[in-house]
Amino acid sequence: MDTVRAARRRRIDAIDLPLHVVGDAMDFAFATEPGPGRPNEDHVIVSAGFAIVLDGVTQPPDLDTGCVHDPVWLVRELGSCLVEALTVEPTAPLDLTLAAAIDRVRGRHGGRCDLTDPNSPSSTVAIVRERGDQVDYLVLCDSSVVFEDGAGITVIHDDRTETLPAYDRHTVARLRNRPEGFWVASTDPAAAAEALTGSVARNRLRRLLLCTDGISRLTEFFRLSWGEVFSLVERSGPRAAVDAVRRYEVACPELLTRPGRARVKRHDDATIAVLHSRA
Ligand SMILES: [Zn+2]
Repeated sequence: MDTVRAARRRRIDAIDLPLHVVGDAMDFAFATEPGPGRPNEDHVIVSAGFAIVLDGVTQPPDLDTGCVHDPVWLVRELGSCLVEALTVEPTAPLDLTLAAAIDRVRGRHGGRCDLTDPNSPSSTVAIVRERGDQVDYLVLCDSSVVFEDGAGITVIHDDRTETLPAYDRHTVARLRNRPEGFWVASTDPAAAAEALTGSVARNRLRRLLLCTDGISRLTEFFRLSWGEVFSLVERSGPRAAVDAVRRYEVACPELLTRPGRARVKRHDDATIAVLHSRA
């Protein structure tokens, strides 16, 4: 018996898969971790053809949102509706996919919530989707898609939350999903049309990742380059990026500042999905 197994194993080992077959698969690896002592308001879903990273916006405990649901509920419902939309119409433009998903989530509130409330639970969105020889991306609010092709590293980052006139809760509520403010996935499908979208030729793509701002603080605050983040993840896996964030948060909290803005939280939920690089 063992001899037969060994013989089979030798035969399998002897099969040399051409490298391009491995490289043609959209294999994603991911890691996600809440800030210490909190529920994870990030959410990540990966499949053979797409990856989705969501970051539910944290609500102050005393905020009246008009909704019985919380950000954890929202990211799970939105994730589920995005998977359905991506599956039913796998080649639809991603902004239409997101609009359909937001509209579907409205129904899942169950008629109990005020969907016009500007503090209704909300989420950032990052999506990457394979479509033939193209890879499409979508970014809404402050999650990121970062990729490297023949032209170098490109960071898709929606910076409209970085230039608000103030960051008190009334100003943020007033400017949410407004042309003079910023856009986020909540109860208004029109927000989807404001997402950053584009495509990159698959055969030019070298490296790609999606992440929440809990990971991009490596470059925003902790002075790593995206090239260094890619190298770290290639060397040690996506969990290493989360671990690096936690180490910097403890070792260099003084770097967590944005001039003119409220203090940046010491820890944040951190999520990264990365496309396996070609051999
Ligand atoms: Zn609700």
